[in-house]
Amino acid sequence: MSNEKEVESRRRFLKVAAGTAAMAAVMGGMPRYARAADLPPLTDADPTAKALGYVEDASKTTNPKHVAGADCSNCQFYSGGPTGRGPCQLFPGKSVNAKGWCVSHAAKKA
Ligand code: SF4
Repeated sequence: MSNEKEVESRRRFLKVAAGTAAMAAVMGGMPRYARAADLPPLTDADPTAKALGYVEDASKTTNPKHVAGADCSNCQFYSGGPTGRGPCQLFPGKSVNAKGWCVSHAAKKA
């Protein structure tokens, strides 16, 4: 009799624990996306951005240091997706354009 109750209560505990773990997994993944999306965009008017020759569109830069094909999406300091915007280690708290570029560009290591 009490054994049955014990089994039932263990079952209930496992259900709750599994639900909590699933919820934690979902919640754990969310802030990362929320943060990346919430970062204010870096603009080429920003003093640091200006100093580093940042441009929103790499294809429009006239900087002689720019190598064809180089943009934020293939820079090792960039941690966003291949399109849209994402964080750059050099501009903490701001998002850069995946198609942007600056003189500190360093090709991602394969
Ligand atoms: S360091 Fe790289 S990711 Fe950051 S702005 Fe410059 S080119 Fe883009």
